[in-house]
Amino acid sequence: MIPPAFDYMTPATLDEAIHALASHGEDVKLLAGGHSLLPMMKLRLAGPKLLIDLSKIPGLGGTKQEGDKITIGALTTHYQIESSELLKENCPLLPQTARAIGDVQVRNRGTIGGSLAHADPAADMPAAILALNGELRVRGSKGERSIQASDFFLGLMTTALNPTEILTEIRIPVLSGRCGTAYLKVPQKASGFAIVGVAVWLRVDNNGRCEDIGIGVTGLNAKPFRAGRVEGRLRGEKLAPNLIEEASSQVIQGVDPLDDLHASAAFRSHLARVYTARAIQKALEGVGA
Ligand SMILES: Cc1cc2nc3c(=O)[nH]c(=O)nc-3n(C[C@H](O)[C@H](O)[C@H](O)COP(=O)(O)OP(=O)(O)OC[C@H]3O[C@@H](n4cnc5c(N)ncnc54)[C@H](O)[C@@H]3O)c2cc1C
Repeated sequence: MIPPAFDYMTPATLDEAIHALASHGEDVKLLAGGHSLLPMMKLRLAGPKLLIDLSKIPGLGGTKQEGDKITIGALTTHYQIESSELLKENCPLLPQTARAIGDVQVRNRGTIGGSLAHADPAADMPAAILALNGELRVRGSKGERSIQASDFFLGLMTTALNPTEILTEIRIPVLSGRCGTAYLKVPQKASGFAIVGVAVWLRVDNNGRCEDIGIGVTGLNAKPFRAGRVEGRLRGEKLAPNLIEEASSQVIQGVDPLDDLHASAAFRSHLARVYTARAIQKALEGVGA
C-alpha cells in the first residue's frame, strides 16, 4: 500500500530537529530506521504530515564506554549492536537480543532508539534494556532528562517520552564479576516478533549464590516489564534447577496476558513460565564462559 503524502526534512542538528518537532504539533513523526513507522504509514495506521529524518544528525549513533557504563546512541542499528565487540565483551545480553530481531534486512535498518520509542509489546530490545535497568537520555524543547527503563514503558505502544522529545542515547552497565546473560524467545513465525521473550543477566558468587539478577519480559503483556517477583525469590539463593522453576512460575503474577490470534493468554502464560526458567538456566550456564 502507498502511504498518504507527507513532507520530509533532514535536520543537521538535534536542536533543529527539536525545534521542528515542537513547531509542528501532533502531525509530525521522527524517522529512524523506518521499519516500524513506514509499515504503519502504508497501512494508514499513522499519517504524519511531516517526517523528521534523524539520520543526518551527528553523534546519535555508535557505542562507547564511559567508566562502568556503556552509552549506545539511539540511531545505533540492531546489526551494529549484534556485532559490537565492546558489547560482546562487556554486556553480551544486548548482542544476544539484537541477533534475535527479525532478519538481516530489519537488523540493518532498525535502530535501538526506534524500537524503544515505538514500544511494540512484542519487541525484543525493551526486555533487555529493562533487565539491565538501562537509563534512557532524552532531549526536548525543555531540555534534557533521564528516564529509567522501568519508568519508560507505560502501556501498549506508549512511553514516557513527551511528543516534543527525542531519545538520544541509552546507558547500560558494564557487567563485571561472575556474570551470565541470555535472551530466549518464541518468535512469531512470519515476522520474528516475540510471542514471549525473556532477557536475563545474573551475577553469582564463588559458591554459585545469586548476588544480583535482572529479568525483562516482552510479548506477555501490553507492555514489557521487569519480573521483580522472580528476581526477589532468587537473589541471595543458590540457583538450583528446582528453585529456578519455582521462582519462574511467579512471572505471570500481576500480569494481564495478551490473548490474540498468535497465542491465547493461557499458552502465553505457559510459555512465559517455561522460557523464564530456561533463560535463567542458560544465563547461569554462561557464567565465566
Ligand atoms: C519484517 C519486520 C520484522 C521485524 N521483526 C522484529 C522482531 O523480531 N523483533 C523486534 O523487536 N522488532 C522487529 N521489527 C521491528 C524493528 O526492530 C524496527 O526496526 C523497530 O521496531 C523500530 O526501529 P526503527 O529504527 O525502524 O524506527 P522507526 O520505524 O523509524 O520509528 C518507530 C517509532 O519510533 C519513533 N522514533 C524513532 N526514533 C526515535 C527517537 N530517537 N526518539 C524518539 N522517537 C523515535 C518514530 O517516530 C516512530 O514513531 C521488525 C520489523 C519488520 C518490518
